[in-house]
Amino acid sequence: MRDQVHWRLFIRCRFTNVIRGGGLQMTPCSYDVVIAGGGLGGAALGRALAGAGAHTLIVERETLFKDRVRGEGIFPWGVVEASTLGIERLLLDDGAHVVPFWKKYTGPGHMDCRDLAATTPAHTACLNFFHPAMQRTLLDAAEASGAIVLRGAEVVGVEPGDVPGKAPVAEIRTNEGKHWAKARLVVGADGRRSVVRRTAGFSLNQDAGRLIVAGVLCEGLDAPEDAIHHFQCPALGQTALIYPIGRQRFRTYFVSRVGQLARPISGNGHIGEFVDACVDTGVPRDWFEHARVIGPLASYPGADSWVDHPCNGGVVLIGDAAAASDPAWGGGLSLTLRDVRVLLHRLLAGDDWEAAAHAYAFEHDRYYGALHRVHDWLAQLLYERGKIADERRARVLPCLAMEPDRMPDIRGMGPEAPSDETARRRFFVEDGILPRAERGTA
Ligand SMILES: Cc1cc2nc3c(=O)[nH]c(=O)nc-3n(C[C@H](O)[C@H](O)[C@H](O)COP(=O)(O)OP(=O)(O)OC[C@H]3O[C@@H](n4cnc5c(N)ncnc54)[C@H](O)[C@@H]3O)c2cc1C
Repeated sequence: MRDQVHWRLFIRCRFTNVIRGGGLQMTPCSYDVVIAGGGLGGAALGRALAGAGAHTLIVERETLFKDRVRGEGIFPWGVVEASTLGIERLLLDDGAHVVPFWKKYTGPGHMDCRDLAATTPAHTACLNFFHPAMQRTLLDAAEASGAIVLRGAEVVGVEPGDVPGKAPVAEIRTNEGKHWAKARLVVGADGRRSVVRRTAGFSLNQDAGRLIVAGVLCEGLDAPEDAIHHFQCPALGQTALIYPIGRQRFRTYFVSRVGQLARPISGNGHIGEFVDACVDTGVPRDWFEHARVIGPLASYPGADSWVDHPCNGGVVLIGDAAAASDPAWGGGLSLTLRDVRVLLHRLLAGDDWEAAAHAYAFEHDRYYGALHRVHDWLAQLLYERGKIADERRARVLPCLAMEPDRMPDIRGMGPEAPSDETARRRFFVEDGILPRAERGTA
């Protein structure tokens, strides 16, 4: 019913243009903002802009959201962003699961439990949810705020406003044919394979694939639901992560190096292999004893891809379209919310949206760059193989165990965690300073 209402709105807009005599293809509908993609980024931004009075169109390809292996845990620093945007409450009301602890297991009998609220700057925990439920809730909220949401429609191209005064235009395909929508700003929130990014002419940077992330949703795992369980085995170059998302459901990931396994673990016929890999990494086998698989098992490349300065000609990219961070480190949702908050605040601060979008893009380069640097250090430390990498691990891991604050706190502080050269040298124990415990016994 709701979809029909919005189709009518869209059609009415089309009609107006025809009546004015321009013809549908010559006179696109006009909006303040057209957003391609109704994922976390597009829906959260669309909701806020529409709520602030902007004439907002969100175009979302899917009509029904189904389970794909995607991020389902917002880190404590991202929860601050969610709260600022006013969506934390919406997610909680929809059954999002607050996870107060982070448990890191580094070998038999070695478990470190972090109380997140007690140890993070804003005293926040992790917030986990089922991704399709989150998308549905936020898109519904965007509609309730006054955004027009076209579901089952696709942005197939964008023409930037590449001369001053020319507005960008999005080409939209629906089951009725093609439509054009003009806007002060077109936002590409259409994920890691962004069509907006490609057709608006942004160049994509891509790291070499270093890791593979396999994931699946299980029900009834015998693991406590108050913690994210993080099993790290640097000797094998493997990690397993278990994110409880509420009601005894657990998103379970296995991370390994490219080339370590004969082939990525994908397809539900390979569940046994997936469980064995997690158990090799330290997950107790009996946790899986009564577990039931309730989603697809799929593998994804663990590598970053990003655009420098994601703004041009009235087109701006947010979320994975701007920078898809390596899913092995789990910061993508939080980064997406940072994008939404920064862009939104810039847009609401004045009338010059072109300048506001560029200011966002400058800021994006800084904070995404900081996360990217730290992720790279972690990948070097935990996954690289060979003599130099082994020596590095032998030097660094015992120091990190004694002085955890050598590790930039990217879960608690996000990009505000120190990531300059001093921080790098401290992390890799190249600062010539022995750990406090060793100094004490020297
Ligand atoms: C395997 C894996 C595990 C991950 N784990 C984590 C994690 O633990 N924690 C974390 O924080 N992050 C994680 N992430 C990353 C996280 O899922 C993303 O960063 C986040 O979903 C990005 O949100 P988005 O809104 O930018 O894009 P998306 O979530 O990709 O949403 C894009 C939306 O746009 C729609 N769309 C696409 N193209 C078009 C088009 N042309 N026209 C109209 N609509 C379109 C899509 O249907 C979709 O709804 C993981 C990612 C992967 C791949």
